Amino acid sequence: MDNLRTIENILPPPPAHMVGDGFRVHNFFPSSGLMDIQRMSPFFLMDYGAKVEFPPTDTPRGVGVHPHRGFETVTISYHGKVAHHDSTGKSGVIGEGDVQWMTAASGVLHKEYHEKEWSLKGGMMQMVQLWVNLPAKHKMDAPAYQPIRREEYGKFSLPDNGGVVEVISGTYNNIKGPAKSFTLIEMYNARLNKGAEISFSFPKHYNTGFLIIEGNVIINDKEAQTDHFVLFANDATDVHLQATEDAIVLILSGEPINEPIAPYGPFVMNTREEIMQAYDDYNNGKFGYLED
Ligand code: MN
Repeated sequence: MDNLRTIENILPPPPAHMVGDGFRVHNFFPSSGLMDIQRMSPFFLMDYGAKVEFPPTDTPRGVGVHPHRGFETVTISYHGKVAHHDSTGKSGVIGEGDVQWMTAASGVLHKEYHEKEWSLKGGMMQMVQLWVNLPAKHKMDAPAYQPIRREEYGKFSLPDNGGVVEVISGTYNNIKGPAKSFTLIEMYNARLNKGAEISFSFPKHYNTGFLIIEGNVIINDKEAQTDHFVLFANDATDVHLQATEDAIVLILSGEPINEPIAPYGPFVMNTREEIMQAYDDYNNGKFGYLED
């Protein structure tokens, strides 16, 4: 392995904030100020809900009805269950290990809450929500919804009981992931047992970062701790990962969308005019209806 990417930065989790009353998240980008807002394009936003305990309640915590336009929300649960409803009539529960890939595109209203039965018992919540930008030509496509269960991921088993790479999107060692995306996106969970070693290779121009979900690891020759985000330079292709204890690493790599963006609130468009239009359409009920 002599084509290793340089580690550009290892970012500790920024201070947490609440999204509604159900999601305590660390926003690594774009709001942390630690990275240029297009640095991880096509990934526009990453909210990381590090492990947190919620006490039991009969009033599920979460975030009420709100709109999105111009991108996709990809929600991955590691602990806890999240119920989801949107204005196209789709609903579902994101169970532990599952992912929900929602294409907001031209616009949806949705709400995201802790699942009712889970809320009654309470427990550990740990999740990631990514906003994946859409290229201009797909921003006004019809909304779509892909609920993907953990059993449906592509699975590459490491030799010697080293663990498994769950392929959500893209291809690892000829194993394909089930998610359909609009640009080229590699998204995997590397679930590694102590001592396992594994390599990844992505085209040099793909923006690439690893989020350490569980355990401590050595990446190339540097140690990276739980809840940290490792950002790679676009100077080579390969990354080497070694688990010094049982570990889970979210692997993200994607072909950048080389277009100007105008993000504002829940919308990610290309121009300020399109943002104004999104607010007009939202205020005029064009995102449909969803009961609170
Ligand atoms: Mn949302």
